[in-house]
Formats: sequence, structure tokens, C-alpha cells
Amino acid sequence: MQLVFATNNHNKLNEVQALMPKHIKLLSLKDINCLEDIPETQNTIEGNAIQKVEYIKTHYGYNCFADDTGLEVEVLNGAPGVYSARYAGNQRNSDDNMNKLLNELSNKENRNAQFKTVIALHLNNKIYTFTGICKGIITNTKQGKKGFGYDPIFKPQGYKETFAQMELNLKNSIGHRGKAIKQLINFLNS
Ligand code: IMP
Repeated sequence: MQLVFATNNHNKLNEVQALMPKHIKLLSLKDINCLEDIPETQNTIEGNAIQKVEYIKTHYGYNCFADDTGLEVEVLNGAPGVYSARYAGNQRNSDDNMNKLLNELSNKENRNAQFKTVIALHLNNKIYTFTGICKGIITNTKQGKKGFGYDPIFKPQGYKETFAQMELNLKNSIGHRGKAIKQLINFLNS
């Protein structure tokens, strides 16, 4: 089965390709010659995921799926959430975002947070959604070089290392995106 994964992020593409069964052939946005930025203007993570698949279906006609992820911090009432990518401004810089978050939490004891991924699937003119959550804490300092985004300051529950210190396979198996992808795969196999 051919499916477009609506992303330009190579980190995400690699993560998801590693989890897909072989009989599912993923096409990237580049493969379908979609080179423009896809709008993400909704105010929920789920809304953004749905907006992206509707855009691909309308403009390119492919069955497709898209993910949208946010980091929700308990003591900040779920912020940065849907605004995670541009938390510190439109430059969408991971270091700036992490610095801002560490600053906001500098005098806070409650460091609980969760990553939430929603995947929207547009298949045969129907839309389905799948949600994956990974709970953890925000560390006091950045640790590790792997991964991307907020990985150096997120330590998943039950682990001594941050996502940025983990092998990709381990992050995939316990992480938010991996959990949502597994639900997508189960659905596609059923
Ligand atoms: P997106 O919806 O996947 O584009 O993610 C929105 C924001 O969350 C971006 O700033 C990413 O850096 C961050 N983000 C998404 N997934 C992850 C992850 O697995 N680890 C760390 N940060 C992430």
C-alpha cells in the first residue's frame, strides 16, 4: 500500500520508516512534489494533524497521514502544547525553545510533562485519528546530543536518560510518536 507521510522533517521520516511494516510504502512530500509549507493554523494538536491531511488530499489526491506533536507541561497548564515549535518565537529554534522552557521552570518543583502525538489518517475519503502519549519530566539542564526538538530536556518516566541520550530504537518503542504509529499500523493491518 502506498501512503504519503505529510512531513518535511527527515528525523521524523526516518523514525516512522523504521517502524512501518515492509508492505507499506511511504511516500514523502518531496516524492509527490509537494514543496510548499502545509498550513498548521489550528489551536489544537489534533486540529493541525487533520488540517494537514485534508490539505494533501485536496491538493494532491493521495491517501495520506500526518502527525502533530506538542510538549505539554503540567505546571504551565499544558503549554507549550500546540505552540511547541514556535514557543520562543517564529524562528522555531530548538535551543531557544528549550532555554525558554527551562527558564519558565527554574523555580518550579513540579517538572511533570508529556509529549502528545496525534496522527490523522485520510484513507478512502475517511479521516481517522490516533493518539500517543509519553509521560516524563523536564530536566534542569540539557543532556545528550541525539534526537531533535526538546529531546535533551525530556526524561521519560522510568528512565535515567533523556530522549537525546537514548538510541533511536528505544525512543521509538517508548515514545509518543511510536505509540501513535503503532496504533496506525494496527489499524492498517486490521
Ligand atoms: P511537530 O508537530 O512534530 O512539528 O512538532 C512540534 C514541536 O515539538 C517541534 O518544535 C519539535 O521540535 C517538537 N517535537 C516534536 N516531536 C518531538 C520529539 O520526539 N522530541 C522532541 N521534540 C519534539
